[in-house]
Amino acid sequence: MTMRLASALFAALVLLVPAVARAGEARAPTDRADARMPWRVLKGERTRASYEHYTELPFDLPAGVTRLTIRFTYGGKEQRSVIDLGLRDPARFRGWSGGTRDHMTLSTEDATPGYLPGPLPAGRWNLVLGAPNIREGARAPYEAQIFIERAATVTEFADAPILAKPGWYRGDLHMHSGDSDGRCKAQSGASVPCPVYRTVEAAAARGLDFIALSDHNTTAHFNALRELQGAFDRMLLVPGREITTFWGHSNVFGPTDFLDFRMTGPHWDQARKWMEAVHREGGIVSINHAGAPSGELCMGCGWRVDDLPDGAVDSVEVVNGGTMRETRTADNALQGMGYWTKLLNMGRHVTGIGGSDSHEADRPASEAGAVGSPTTIVYMSELSVHGFLAGISSGRVFIDVEGTRDRFLDLSASAGHQHAMMGQTLRLHPGEPVQFAAELKGVPSGTMQLVIDGQAETAHRALFDAGHPLSIAPWRSDGRAHWIRADIRDDQGRLLLIGNPIYIAPVR
Ligand SMILES: [Zn+2]
Ligand SMILES: [Zn+2]
Repeated sequence: MTMRLASALFAALVLLVPAVARAGEARAPTDRADARMPWRVLKGERTRASYEHYTELPFDLPAGVTRLTIRFTYGGKEQRSVIDLGLRDPARFRGWSGGTRDHMTLSTEDATPGYLPGPLPAGRWNLVLGAPNIREGARAPYEAQIFIERAATVTEFADAPILAKPGWYRGDLHMHSGDSDGRCKAQSGASVPCPVYRTVEAAAARGLDFIALSDHNTTAHFNALRELQGAFDRMLLVPGREITTFWGHSNVFGPTDFLDFRMTGPHWDQARKWMEAVHREGGIVSINHAGAPSGELCMGCGWRVDDLPDGAVDSVEVVNGGTMRETRTADNALQGMGYWTKLLNMGRHVTGIGGSDSHEADRPASEAGAVGSPTTIVYMSELSVHGFLAGISSGRVFIDVEGTRDRFLDLSASAGHQHAMMGQTLRLHPGEPVQFAAELKGVPSGTMQLVIDGQAETAHRALFDAGHPLSIAPWRSDGRAHWIRADIRDDQGRLLLIGNPIYIAPVR
């Protein structure tokens, strides 16, 4: 028996199936404005007596604070009362926003524009108020809510989700700016370290929904990203960096605090120092270009830490755009497919992703390794950093090798009353049949291959074109654990779309 696929009806049905995250990996979207209680609230009133005067509201910051956020509201605006804001730490002025902002946030790495990132020393801080206008007889009651964080955590540069609705979002997860070795053309044509905004502009021009700029080992680009997020309010800027060691490279997504990358050997007891910190903070660890060579050709590029336990790695960069410039194809041993397959065959649930590894923001979009080539498409509950992290963890993800705007692949599987999307698990008795359904767009003809435990057998291959809709033969469980995913190739056999696995587990 076969199942007809890719109908609009099926697509509509798919959207009705609730996405169930794997146990222990669900990260609920948060309302960032309301989720936390203020640590201190400073209340008071400005009257005519404070007109054209400055006042300081002192508060004593404890040691160990990693982020300070202040939300300020005041009344009397109908009488044109204005209260200016600034901030002073125990040693220096930390910024001034006049009457233009109602909140600011400062951490070691990033701060609201107009404020300086840096250490948040314990001691006497002052919120500085100015009163450029208070009329005679007017009253301007104010409230400053002060929030502190004492542990590093995932950073959202935007105050609210970029888009507060579930859907498929397209993005690039690996790129470099002039905060590491990214370069672009100056006015004269000279090659210069590329300002962060040029990469962000290139991604926006490509129509991406999200990007993670991933400069090597540094946290210097995060302050620019916080500023740029406001101006690029339709594209999510995910905090990312490439942990670059002598024994391999790994992107981490979510946290913004410094992570010590200085491993002294290719071993878990070294890697765990930063990998466990990322997970403690709610972030994701993704191994980059695992199949790349190591040595003088590409120093430290290939992944050579072999003793990682289950759970150390959340995802693998299966397609690297920079490597595509050499290999021309995604299924080459220099890409990450081999390492991904190895981890999956060890029973690990790791999500396959892609990244351009762009080092030149102005490389033409038609070329491999340009910003957005390849693209990773992630199903998210909302377009936010938390939605992104949960989406990658859930595994409902596919890779568009050439970074088009429209190619699409979703795979689901049914057995009896069970239904699983990519990243989810079916629990099966021996002999139970599984029906697969795929939704495919943007590829008029070619082949779909079901890859089962890394094997691509002709029995699970299906041709499709305008006259022959895609259909896949059912698969029968042998009662053991497996993983099954789909690849889409064009008529010439070029690998265009790479799906993530649906997992098969024995009935407990
Ligand atoms: Zn790298
Ligand atoms: Zn890189």
